[in-house]
Parts: sequence; C-alpha cells; structure tokens
Amino acid sequence: MKKFKIIKETIEKEVVEKTICNKCGDTINHTGTEFDRNEQEEEFASFSITFGYGNKRDGNTYSFDLCDICFQKMVDGLKIAPTIDEG
Ligand SMILES: [Zn+2]
Repeated sequence: MKKFKIIKETIEKEVVEKTICNKCGDTINHTGTEFDRNEQEEEFASFSITFGYGNKRDGNTYSFDLCDICFQKMVDGLKIAPTIDEG
C-alpha cells in the first residue's frame, strides 16, 4: 500500500516573454500563459517556412514574426492575392 501526500513543486519552464516584429521591430510583452493571449498578442503572426532539399535554401527553415501592419503590407505587395481560408 502506498500513502500519498500533497507537496508543492516549483518547475522552470521557458515561456515567450516578448514578440518582436522582424520587419519593423515593434515589440509586445506577453503577460499571460500560452493559452491566455491578450488582444495585442493576437495582432502578431508567426511564420515557419521550410524549403525542400535541392532548393538553394536546401532544407533551411526560416522562422519570423510580423505585426499586423507589416503582415498586411507584405500581403498587399503580392501580385496575386493569397488564398484565404476563413475557417
Ligand atoms: Zn511590424
């Protein structure tokens, strides 16, 4: 038989402290948990793009964040509008 007791345990964990727009440098501080994003945090989008092998970027993954303004400017700069899934 095992008897159990409740103990308080402290863990260290890496969390996002700030998000910086790679285009303009605008910065937001994160205040909540990853499941409790504030309104300002929702204005940023994170991208992770991996290029295939044989490509001149040969399997490299580019990761970056853009604020909403810079994201919109990037989209507006496309000759053909992207496909948008409003799911
Ligand atoms: Zn920006």
